[in-house]
Parts: sequence; C-alpha cells; structure tokens
Amino acid sequence: MIPEQPVYLEDKVDEIRQSGRLAYRSTALPTWCPGCGYYSMTEGLVNALTELRIKTEDTVIVSGIGCASRFPFFMDTYGFHTLHGRALPVATGVKVANDKLTVVAVAMGLPLVVATSHMRLAVTSILPTSFLTTASMA
Ligand code: SF4
Repeated sequence: MIPEQPVYLEDKVDEIRQSGRLAYRSTALPTWCPGCGYYSMTEGLVNALTELRIKTEDTVIVSGIGCASRFPFFMDTYGFHTLHGRALPVATGVKVANDKLTVVAVAMGLPLVVATSHMRLAVTSILPTSFLTTASMA
C-alpha cells in the first residue's frame, strides 16, 4: 500500500523523540535477530511505562539467561541479569525489598519448565510483579 503522504525518517525520529518513549531506552542498540519477538516486547513495555508514567528510576527489569537476558541492557531503567531460570525469584525478591518499584521479569519460555515452583509463587503471591515470556520454538 502506498501512503498518501511521503513518510520521512527525520519526521518519524522527531515524533518518537517528542513522545518521551526514548527515556526508557538505553543508548545500546538491540542485537536480537531481525524479526525477533523481543523487539515487540520492548516496544510494548516502553509504551506501557510511558502511558502509566512510571519513572525509569522506579522500574527494574530482571532477566535470566539466553536472548532474553539482554533485555535490561537495552532499557534505561535499573536492571538485573540473573541466572538460568531465576528471573522470577530475583524479581520477587526485588519487589519484597521495595514494593513501590515496578518490577518486570523477562525470560524465554524455559522458566515455565525450569522454575515452575517460582512461577506458582509469583502468580499466587500478592506481589504485582509482571512477567514477560516467549514460547520456545524447539
Ligand atoms: S530469541 Fe534469540 S535466537 Fe531467537 S530470534 Fe530472538 S534473538 Fe534470535
């Protein structure tokens, strides 16, 4: 489909700058594969944080290993790169230590298998910790 008006990259960059969404992004460019779902997850998280006006200094992104582990490096928030299958318990611990923080755990589908008991604790606890995951294609 051909747009009615030409779209210029400079205009798009200006639009993004003015939206305030770049405040949540670090200067590191993502190194995920082209088309990887983590781009969409990053964009969705940034949109949610922007819309909810959650300050970067009140946000903690916690990751495990694998491609998901890079998530905190691409965000200008606090971040914690943890161990294999341990994003959820660390995120839960951060929330227990300071329940005013917005804590998001990011992991590949593996924690659903490796850390089933952690998932049960996180889901059944009263702590509102968010969990982003992708399904394993293997
Ligand atoms: S999860 Fe990792 S290997 Fe798979 S598409 Fe994303 S960056 Fe590439």
